Amino acid sequence: MFSFAKIKGGIHPDENKHLSNHKPIAKALLPDHVIIPLSQHLGAPANPIVKVGDSVKTGQVIAEAGGFVSAYIHSSVSGEVKDIGEYPVPHASGLKNLCIKIKRHGDEWHYLPRLSLESSADILIERLREAGLTGMGGASFPSNIKYLAKDKIHTLIVNAAECEPYITADDMLMRERAEQIISGIKIAQKILKPKSVIIGVEDNKTEAIKILKKALAKENGDKSSGIRRVWPLANSTTFYENLQISLAVVPTKYPTGGEKQLIQVLTGVEVPSGELPSSVGFLCQNIATVAAISDAVLEGMPLVKRIVTVTGRAVNSPGNFEARLGTPLSELLDQAGADQDKVSRLIAGGPMMGQVMKTTDVPLVKGCGGILALNEQEIPQAESSPCVKCGKCVNACPMGLVPLEMARHTKYKDYDGAVDFGLTDCILCGSCAYVCPSHLPLVQYFQFAKGELKKQSDQDRRLDYTRQLSEVKRARLKKEADAKAAAKAAKAKKRKRTTNPA
Ligand code: SF4
Ligand code: SF4
Repeated sequence: MFSFAKIKGGIHPDENKHLSNHKPIAKALLPDHVIIPLSQHLGAPANPIVKVGDSVKTGQVIAEAGGFVSAYIHSSVSGEVKDIGEYPVPHASGLKNLCIKIKRHGDEWHYLPRLSLESSADILIERLREAGLTGMGGASFPSNIKYLAKDKIHTLIVNAAECEPYITADDMLMRERAEQIISGIKIAQKILKPKSVIIGVEDNKTEAIKILKKALAKENGDKSSGIRRVWPLANSTTFYENLQISLAVVPTKYPTGGEKQLIQVLTGVEVPSGELPSSVGFLCQNIATVAAISDAVLEGMPLVKRIVTVTGRAVNSPGNFEARLGTPLSELLDQAGADQDKVSRLIAGGPMMGQVMKTTDVPLVKGCGGILALNEQEIPQAESSPCVKCGKCVNACPMGLVPLEMARHTKYKDYDGAVDFGLTDCILCGSCAYVCPSHLPLVQYFQFAKGELKKQSDQDRRLDYTRQLSEVKRARLKKEADAKAAAKAAKAKKRKRTTNPA
């Protein structure tokens, strides 16, 4: 049985989900070309295995995992490889990244062989790798690596909180494809053999909750309800339990969908600083990834498409689109009727944690659940002023950090000082900046500081490596010199013996 808790801090920004949560998922038009980045996941970029001029099918591997933590990349259309080069990608830096550009000719598929629930856990994990599955909630961690920790896991948490404002892709997925989600959960159960499975969903998704409850009841063979409401408390977590998969309805509060926050709210367990959920027996998987697991295993379909919300008040017809990865955002915005003259800010992802884009000429990637075209009124316009030490940022921080101090130390380039106040635990959720009356760009400070720390640690690693190389070189030269000296001494000794045989 579980205990329940509230997340620390958190905020209630305007949800704006009504803009897109009333329309069924539409199939996006197939693009004329796709631009597929080789780094859409955490870890090493994938290595291309095709060359310009090659013909490819939809679902064919075009780049192999470039390391242990990396992911396979597949073509999302059939056509011809036109270029392998640097293109803008959805990243705040605005920097370009290595991509494969494919001109589409039709849509001829290459599927993997279908598997079933009878397949072994190892074969299923291998399938996640072959299908290029990565977390689709934003973090993009390769799924097969996550599932390798299977022996440590006692609870599978399916993250359906979708706490970012505006985004409704997971909501619509639950409403329209509950059975596919349950199939994906069963596959995850087969791999992990967890004691419990909990789907965590925020209480603002009433329709999705109704549909999931019905699907879970059917799964248990109970046509009426089959779900026992075991923990009903007003304004708090509601816990529906059945035999295998439980559904927990949690209060809507940003950022409940953060991995550590959802685990805490559902179970009361706090994942220790710097550790992964598996260290305390949890595996948290976004609900869209769970649906993609079903496709990969039962249909043999690699990860080549996803549902993405295209919304904002600069869009005439916001909605949820099932689109091929690599589709230029400009095409999806066109299909949703974006009015370019009204767009004041373009974001890939949600308004809290998404990346502001300078151009629409970037592709849809595995971890992108939203494209926001916001008009002037939707963007906070206030100027920054000095910190008034109100402490609101501290109260809002879901990780229990001290944002004002982290910002102060970052400003003076004292990154170690920022770390002392929690920088490494910061999940860049933006809650602190949202409540700051001085409108300080706190998240930008922390993004910058994290970038500097990474640069520093990369440089330290490089220096370490260079030091090791020169030590090896020094040792080799010494060995060679010693060998030479020994040979010389042996020669001299031999000479002495020959000239003076007595
Ligand atoms: S961005 Fe970082 S410091 Fe600010 S509230 Fe979120 S976790 Fe806390
Ligand atoms: S919320 Fe803003 S003004 Fe208040 S203490 Fe934090 S940084 Fe300073």
